Amino acid sequence: MPTRSYTGRHRPAAKPSRGRRLVVPVALLSSTVAAGLVIRDAGASELSPEAASMKNISESVAGLGLVADPDAVAAATANRAGARSSRDVARDATALIATASASAQRSAAAAQEAATAKVKAAAAAKAAKAAKAAKAAKAEAKKKAAKAALAKARRWVSPVAGYTLTSGYGMRWGKMHPAQDLACPVGSPVHALSSGTVVFAGWSNEGYGNLVKIRYWDGTVSWMAHNSRLLVSVGEEVGPGQRIAYSGSTGNSTGPHVHLEIHPEDGGAVAPVRWLAKRGVTI
Ligand SMILES: [Zn+2]
Repeated sequence: MPTRSYTGRHRPAAKPSRGRRLVVPVALLSSTVAAGLVIRDAGASELSPEAASMKNISESVAGLGLVADPDAVAAATANRAGARSSRDVARDATALIATASASAQRSAAAAQEAATAKVKAAAAAKAAKAAKAAKAAKAEAKKKAAKAALAKARRWVSPVAGYTLTSGYGMRWGKMHPAQDLACPVGSPVHALSSGTVVFAGWSNEGYGNLVKIRYWDGTVSWMAHNSRLLVSVGEEVGPGQRIAYSGSTGNSTGPHVHLEIHPEDGGAVAPVRWLAKRGVTI
């Protein structure tokens, strides 16, 4: 019977000589021995091949009479286990940090990319809006210019600059005078009333002398008679105020004047003064 008690189940050699007693660094032995201690606690049927192999090594060590202080072994094992555990934790933490860092970097990159794309999209939208506004402004300006040009083309003006109103529209000497006579010196410039086309320019055999008829943009036709000289011909386009003739006293006339007739829609003549007044022209 042994005289000393052991926490381990292996028994030391009965009387180990100093010469046979091997001093093995506890650190080297600890794993094997500690494993052996655990393994020897377990039944053989519960051991994995790896553990079984460890058990054999452990028994071999025991067979050689190697001895290790069980407390030291336990402490070393705990330390090693603790150290391993700490290293594992540190390694895991490092891996986690690396993963988190990579993930964060990816997220940051994605966020940066998204932000850049958003900025680019906003800039593109702004540019498109500006281009659209510029185009709209240009179209508006063009429209305005066209409207102004049209208004200018469609304005009405007086047929002659310096004149005296003589015979008006109405009965004269027992017959109808369907015109307004504007007395003026021979050779006074005679103007088109607005934009239109010359439909007659020549000598009239009906007493009008040198006559010009113009059909305007609204369908109205003006007759201007007794001219000394004509400046336009049939088919010619004319604009408001354009010089079309010089006044005179040709045809059935008692003195130099412009005989002006207004025929709306090329129909019957109307009173020129009232008709022109409605268009902003006072004579
Ligand atoms: Zn007349």
